[in-house]
Amino acid sequence: MQPMPMLPPHLLVIEDEQDIAALLRLHLSDLPAQVDVVADGPSGLAAALGQPFDAIVLDLRLPGLSGLDICRELRARGQRVPLLMLTARASELDRVLGLELGADDYVTKPFSVLELKARVRALLRRAAPPAAPAVARSRLDCAELSIDRARRRAWLGTLELVLTPREFDLLWHFMGHPGRVFTRAELLEQVWGYGHDGYDHTVNSHINRLRAKLGDDRSESRFIHTVWGVGYRFELVVEAS
Ligand code: CA
Repeated sequence: MQPMPMLPPHLLVIEDEQDIAALLRLHLSDLPAQVDVVADGPSGLAAALGQPFDAIVLDLRLPGLSGLDICRELRARGQRVPLLMLTARASELDRVLGLELGADDYVTKPFSVLELKARVRALLRRAAPPAAPAVARSRLDCAELSIDRARRRAWLGTLELVLTPREFDLLWHFMGHPGRVFTRAELLEQVWGYGHDGYDHTVNSHINRLRAKLGDDRSESRFIHTVWGVGYRFELVVEAS
């Protein structure tokens, strides 16, 4: 089989402010990447559904359809493309909502171009199939839960889990270290991979969504357990019969 030529990643930017859109196009093209830009919500959603992108950078406030609406709609349709949300500094609630609705990361406006590029690069790296050495384990199992890193897929029994790239990385990290307790700061460093200003709620909200997908409930988790005052631990708990 001929090796596939390496194409630069294809990014979609959904941003109605022309100056910011132009800035994003200029700097993201440098990654390098092919960058498409659209300026309103409905066109953004149509573009995102029309062809596969490697990542989408979208503004929260857009004419026609908000960034949150677009996130929700893409995830509802099973699209796992990495999403980076741009939000205003003041709106903490918007950021939390964005993550709840399936965004993988957010950057607050006004943003540093360098930071934004680093975040997009990190999203692309996580989403790309890893060029892992053949000896590295690519599949982990725990009871009926299985995860395949090479294929970026996970299953609970016969049900395939629909995970965002970050949820996938969190689950892989946990399953690779069963029984080990991680603080939120450790998870931010080891899974997010950059200084995240210590936003514990970022970890909490991703873990809550992951737990919901694993069928874990806060009081009776089977897989991901809260270690009060410390962090989280992944371990299969078998109910006594
Ligand atoms: Ca806007």
